[in-house]
Parts: sequence; C-alpha cells; structure tokens
Amino acid sequence: MAHPKKKWGQNFLRNRGAVAKIVEAIDAQPGELVLEIGPGEGVLTEKLVELPNEIAAIEIDPDLAANLEVRFGDRLALRHEDAVEAELPQRPYRAVGNLPYNVGTPILRRVIADPNCRRAVFMLQKEVADRVIAKPGSDPYGFLTLYVALFAAARTVMTLDPRSFYPPPKVRSAVVVLDPVPPAYTANRELLLELISTSFRMRRKTLVNNLTGWRNLTRGAAEEALKEAGLQPAVRAETLSLADFDRLAHALTR
Ligand code: SAM
Repeated sequence: MAHPKKKWGQNFLRNRGAVAKIVEAIDAQPGELVLEIGPGEGVLTEKLVELPNEIAAIEIDPDLAANLEVRFGDRLALRHEDAVEAELPQRPYRAVGNLPYNVGTPILRRVIADPNCRRAVFMLQKEVADRVIAKPGSDPYGFLTLYVALFAAARTVMTLDPRSFYPPPKVRSAVVVLDPVPPAYTANRELLLELISTSFRMRRKTLVNNLTGWRNLTRGAAEEALKEAGLQPAVRAETLSLADFDRLAHALTR
C-alpha cells in the first residue's frame, strides 16, 4: 500500500458502514454513468463496480491510478487527471467522491454547475458541508451556500469523525447529497454571482457599504435599489435569501 500523500489530501476511508451509505445515496438510474472523483485505494470503487452502471473515475496520483488500473481493469474507465480541470462526462452521470479537502470546493462547484450531473454525493470537511447547507442568518451562510442554491438542493446524510480515515484528518467530515434543481431565479446568473460575491466581500459591513462602488454604483443608487427590492436600508448580506438577491439584481439593473 502506497504511503498517503498529504499534498493530494489522501485520507483514506476505513469505515465500511460509511462506504455502504455513500454508495446507496448515489441511487444511479439505468443508463447513467457513475463518476468517482479521487478513488484512491478503491474503497468506494470496489462497491461501485458491482453496480449495473458504467463506472468512470478521475485520480491525480499516478501510483494509485496504476494500482486501480491493474485491480479493476476494464470494469473502470480510469483517467489519470486533475479533477479540477478534467473534462466532465458528456452524458448524464452521478458524481461521487470522498473529495480531497484542499480542492473540494472547486470540484463541487464545477460538478454541480454541469448540466449533465444528475446528482453528486460528496464527502467534504464538515465545516464546508455546513456552509453548503446553511440557512440565512447563520454563521456558515455565505457565498458558497448561495452558489450551491443556484444549482442544487443540498442535504447532509452523515457526519464522520477523523477516526473513520487513515491517516485521520484534523477535522470532522460530512457527506452531502446535491440534487440539481430548476433555476429559482430570473436575473442573469453571472450578474447574480457577482452581486452575491460583492455582497459578502466584508461580512461585517452592511450590504449598502459592500455594494457602493461596485460597477460604479453610488451609495444613493445602492440604497434606492435596496428599497425597490423591499430590503431594509441597514441589511447585511448574511440575512438575504436567493430570492432577495434575485430581486436586488433586477432592481440594480433597472
Ligand atoms: N476515495 C478514497 C477513499 O475514500 O479512501 C480516497 C479519498 S482521498 C480523501 C482523496 C483522493 O483524491 C486521493 O486518492 C487523491 O489522490 C485524489 N485527488 C487529490 N487531488 C485530486 C485532483 N485534483 N483530481 C483527482 N483526484 C485527486
């Protein structure tokens, strides 16, 4: 067995109960591909290849990729690539992975934004999972929560403590299931994302303060847009729902 490499976030899952729950949560439908991200030593892969679906995987570590190739042969379409930039499947698929924590967020973001993704089941740092499923007004609520809400409905299916892995990571982990949802907004998506990102730039500041100067917006115009969107003048971004941001985006572009 290869020595775990820290630079690729290699904390291998050793909890058999968790493996079973993750595989069950994928619930792949006939004809859908299952894409595993970061198969590592293959603890999930060995269960995935028992499914009737085609299984593909992306693994960055050449040593692990070579082992997986020998072990699974043509039961697994393995690509030795970086999942942060690798091409995603061109057909309907479900993604699954105990994501490397250093690149978990960018991988999650690109997968859920991909129109071919029918579901994603991802193990993340608990702190990141909390941000994904946060409610307005709570501490973890922020850009990531709203980004996810643009594309998917998210729920946590389990949390795991560090002893479930070898080597044990420093933090707790959680598995989230992300299901694509039809857009719950009507503003331009790029504008909305930019607005949300700007709104959370300085968390302690009021929304008006964060927005003033963005796209040459004057303080007066920002206040006016808030009013038009039915928002209080001293509101902070962390209390706003996606629907609030959507109204605000429209008010700002009128
Ligand atoms: N799935 C295995 C398990 O549960 O034991 C391994 C999980 S380990 C947390 C993360 C895996 O992702 C490692 O195998 C690591 O080499 C791989 N990995 C790290 N960065 C990656 C990247 N950018 N693209 C693809 N795989 C990556």
